[in-house]
Amino acid sequence: MKVLVIEDTVTSATLVCHQLTKMGLSAMHARDGESGVVMFKRERPDLVLLDIIMPGMDGFEVAHRIRQLEQDGDWTPIIFLTARASENDLQRAIEVGGDDYLVKPVSEVVLKAKVGAMQRIAQMRSALLVLTRKLDDANRELTRLSSVDGLTGIANRRRFDESLLREWRRASRTGLPLSLLVADVDYFKPFNDNYGHQVGDECLKAVARTLELKLRRPTDVVARYGGEEFAAILPETALDGAIAVADAMRGGIEALAITHRLSGAAPVVTISIGVASMMPVRGDENGFVALIKSADDALFRAKKLGRNQVAACLDSIEAEIG
Ligand SMILES: [Mg+2]
Repeated sequence: MKVLVIEDTVTSATLVCHQLTKMGLSAMHARDGESGVVMFKRERPDLVLLDIIMPGMDGFEVAHRIRQLEQDGDWTPIIFLTARASENDLQRAIEVGGDDYLVKPVSEVVLKAKVGAMQRIAQMRSALLVLTRKLDDANRELTRLSSVDGLTGIANRRRFDESLLREWRRASRTGLPLSLLVADVDYFKPFNDNYGHQVGDECLKAVARTLELKLRRPTDVVARYGGEEFAAILPETALDGAIAVADAMRGGIEALAITHRLSGAAPVVTISIGVASMMPVRGDENGFVALIKSADDALFRAKKLGRNQVAACLDSIEAEIG
């Protein structure tokens, strides 16, 4: 433990430093306030013993500076040294950030007791900080887990809902288009029934991985929307860009070449994707509901047209042309 003694009276400083060394502590001495602050910055001691009356910068000012130098969460105990124990001085000492005081000449027994008490507080405090950090980590992990789909590891429905609402609001402020893709694995129920749930799960994992790989921007989000339903949010993306992403996703799933003998669309696992794009109107908080509806309608058309394909919402196309 490092102790910084800031004291202009050499005899007093020498005595205190001697007592500290006897306690097995490492003592440093600064002869005035200015050099005390410099030494504090450089050495970052565990405890400061601080004289009040010094030429130039007095102890109150030094304590004030030390408290300013400390980062959030830092705290170095400060014990004031005073020749006279006036109640006014004591009150001010605590106000400027001191923790305790000692009357000079310093008694070895009292010094030992106070240093011990400060050490104990510092230890409890750092234990508490460690615990607080662990709690913060645990909370972050909980938040992460509650937003991730357990099977596929991509965003879950909850995170999708939050992201869509957030991106919709952002788009209504920026006036930039927001695109939404909704996708279904084609004939997934017969796949699951025929090959078993484990193979079905592996298939969903591969699909999720592939969809995620086809995203182009860090702000894009792909989520597992339901059983074999997936959805992607593409901020600042117009319809043509969204269709390009959807085409890449559809092609990527087909290229996985997962055998599917019972599919009516292809001999392998495929997906159908509905695409919708909207330019939110400022102040339209609930317009994302219409965006979801449009993408769902487009998905319905993609399925009706034979699956394993991408269909765009007709409204989006009209809006883009007109
Ligand atoms: Mg003095």
